[in-house]
Amino acid sequence: MNQQDDSTGRICSRLTPFGTTIFTTISRRANSVGAVNLGQGFPDEDPPEDLIQATIDSLRAGHNQYAPMPGIDSLRQAIADDQAGRGRGTWAASDEITVTSGATGALAASILGTLEQDDEVILFDPAYDAYPALVAMAGAKSVRLAPAAPEFRITRELIEKALTPRTRMILVNTPWNPTGRILDDGELGIIADICRQHDLICVSDEVYERMVFTAPHRSISTLPGMRDRTIVISSMGKTYSCTGWKVGWACAPPDLTAAIRAAHQFLVFSIPQPLQEAAARALNHHAEAWDETLTDSYQARRSFLLDGLREVGMQPIEPEGTYFILTDYTPLGDENDIAFCDRLLETVKVAAVPCSIFTRDGLGTRDYVRFAFCKPLTVLEEALKRLRGLQRL
Ligand code: PMP
Ligand code: GLN
Repeated sequence: MNQQDDSTGRICSRLTPFGTTIFTTISRRANSVGAVNLGQGFPDEDPPEDLIQATIDSLRAGHNQYAPMPGIDSLRQAIADDQAGRGRGTWAASDEITVTSGATGALAASILGTLEQDDEVILFDPAYDAYPALVAMAGAKSVRLAPAAPEFRITRELIEKALTPRTRMILVNTPWNPTGRILDDGELGIIADICRQHDLICVSDEVYERMVFTAPHRSISTLPGMRDRTIVISSMGKTYSCTGWKVGWACAPPDLTAAIRAAHQFLVFSIPQPLQEAAARALNHHAEAWDETLTDSYQARRSFLLDGLREVGMQPIEPEGTYFILTDYTPLGDENDIAFCDRLLETVKVAAVPCSIFTRDGLGTRDYVRFAFCKPLTVLEEALKRLRGLQRL
């Protein structure tokens, strides 16, 4: 799936192991065969109309030059209010919030701005593919831990065995793409304890913070002693159905924010102002109402796809959050997850993502594939109709 071609010779050695991202590969292949694309996770619907209008108004008002490097005041204040309003702690717009190029930009600035060469970063597999690549770009080392499927529970023992004098950061993702798990208080407590004891930075990727179905989301930054060492990352894309806008942010105490900005100023410098204005509008005017509609409609799609996958003979894990379902496909075939996804694409024309892509050397959790359910029910129905035609091998 991670295709290399013969034009890769000039890619630096830090990046060659990562090939082409699964998301580029899967969408290209899905488009080329006319597949229903439940691979790359992006909603099919548009953001609310007034957000599009706010962007247009801002362009017309002449906001076409560089925005301030850390983000416009109104968006940073809207992020601060949104966080505080949901009990996520108070972050100062002035020196604790930075607007970035999506959550990816926030991750990049956090990693490049804080890590030294050869520092070690603990990641939990299956891990979002950008994490190890960004760690490698910083000249640091990913230490990838693999909690056992299908529970994917993080334990103290697992982390403690991996600690070395060079451990500098733990990266957590809750709700967790691709497992669909929400880390519980016990797991967050263990990670927080270890961060405090070993003076580690915690990067907390919370992009699916509003997509929760079975338990509330809790940010590790709210645990005792964690606010001073945590970088909380989120973005507009998932919640407001505008993944293409790439407006994200990082909330962190002033010393970590200074490190984030030290990198962000040279990575992209600033984010398009019209999109920032729309983002501020979204957080100020839509957050609650959109949350409710979003949760209801995503609950319905989640149940629909879960039932459908069970009907075709798979064994899906019920996601607690995110808009992904990880499913054991092995009742339908003996091949590995990459071969299974190839077969899905080629025979029934449905795109899914092999879970092993998110693991160390691509060798872990080979019995699972990931389906995205951020699609209209009609699209999910069409995917299921096609999956019903899949032969068992
Ligand atoms: N983190 C996780 C866990 C993701 O799934 C994604 C993809 N949406 C990102 C970060 C990147 O987010 P953005 O598109 O805002 O850069
Ligand atoms: N986060 C999305 C996913 O996991 C895709 C991100 C991307 O395309 N880079 O599917």
